[in-house]
Amino acid sequence: MKILVQKFGGTSVSTIDRRKLVVQKVMEAKQKGYNPVVVVSAMGRKGEPYATDSLRSLVTDTFKSENPLATDLLMSCGEIISSVVMCDEFHKVGIKASPLTGGQAGIITNNIYNDASMIKVDTKKILDLIKSDTVPVITGFQGYNEEGFFTTLGRGGSDITASLLGASLKSEEIEIYTDVDGIMTADPRIVMEPNLIHCISYNEVFQLADQGANVIHPRAIEIAMQGNIPLKIKNTLSECKGTLINSLGEKTEGSIVTGITHMTNRIQVQLVLNQNKDNVDYGNVLEVLAENHISIDLINVFPNEKIFTIDSKDLLKLKDIMNKSDLKYSFIEGCSKIAIIGNRIKGVPGVMAKILRILKDSNIEVLQTADSHTTIWCLIYDKDLERAINLLHKKFLK
Ligand code: ADP
Ligand code: ASP
Ligand code: MG
Repeated sequence: MKILVQKFGGTSVSTIDRRKLVVQKVMEAKQKGYNPVVVVSAMGRKGEPYATDSLRSLVTDTFKSENPLATDLLMSCGEIISSVVMCDEFHKVGIKASPLTGGQAGIITNNIYNDASMIKVDTKKILDLIKSDTVPVITGFQGYNEEGFFTTLGRGGSDITASLLGASLKSEEIEIYTDVDGIMTADPRIVMEPNLIHCISYNEVFQLADQGANVIHPRAIEIAMQGNIPLKIKNTLSECKGTLINSLGEKTEGSIVTGITHMTNRIQVQLVLNQNKDNVDYGNVLEVLAENHISIDLINVFPNEKIFTIDSKDLLKLKDIMNKSDLKYSFIEGCSKIAIIGNRIKGVPGVMAKILRILKDSNIEVLQTADSHTTIWCLIYDKDLERAINLLHKKFLK
């Protein structure tokens, strides 16, 4: 049985005209002999009535933090509405379609509300529908836990649903439809005309996604990679071939950089040994942060100081921990982390030097750097972000 999982993001199902385009993409798949399994996100983006952010804003932050189970129930509604409305569009053109919640589609998760992980997927209901020539239209972003309560998979989690189902059903491919032509060399909201990446390896796209390119969820890439299922990122609004993600990536030698991405809302934190000489907690500070679920990165430990960054949402928690331990520290708010990614960076001397030269020549202050085989990171001020990304993109990718 030739199965094709096709996932449509929030903007792809936001208006009736766009939902008609979704029907066309599914019809094309059927004409090619595939059995489509459709996954949908909640309709639209922030501000639109049934978007996930709009649903979340119906209750207070205090309620959300104290009632994660109820919050997941609320957040699940967006995808449920979307799947039923989408089925109506299929019925209008004579295609049999049936909506299923993630749990009804067989996705069973652990109990971590708001950020659940899959325990198992039972594809029986989906296969029964396909056998009766019915297109399953499955709500992305959610499952049931073993007690039968709704759970959600983390923001952007409909991509994860697509990969979970793709891997379990041994889909020929997983198609992720969105509002851009595919994976670009930089976020098109920041760089005017980034290049479309035609083919990219799981590894490189994982780095891009993990470091801020929200075009696809990094977990979705891991799952597809484990199942060795090719992913395709395509535009619902165009006929563009999109980006193919597989284990090989681009075979031809191109630029050493594959893409540039970024994360905003970073805070740089510094602790100096001199100011904390008699404080026993200075030595354990990274462990204490980990115990309190504060994730840190760009970590530099020197004999006389420790420097790292945190997300701004964790600042209050960090202050609380430091104050309780009477640790002296300083921090810089308003930072962004740029990641310059490419499998071919490995072994090429002078890439970091070139990056620093480009930024220095434009008076962009670099607060910190780090590097791995495939990625170079630079921490800069938010105010310089757009300029820095555009400059680096022009030098490395044009
Ligand atoms: P969907 O609702 O379809 O899941 P998302 O908003 O989650 O859509 O992801 C698509 C968006 O990702 C695009 O509109 C684009 O602005 C953004 N994006 C960020 N980085 C990139 C990139 N490198 N290539 C393509 N899109 C990117
Ligand atoms: N609707 C969910 C979100 O906004 C899941 C998704 O769109 O992938 O996070
Ligand atoms: Mg998304």
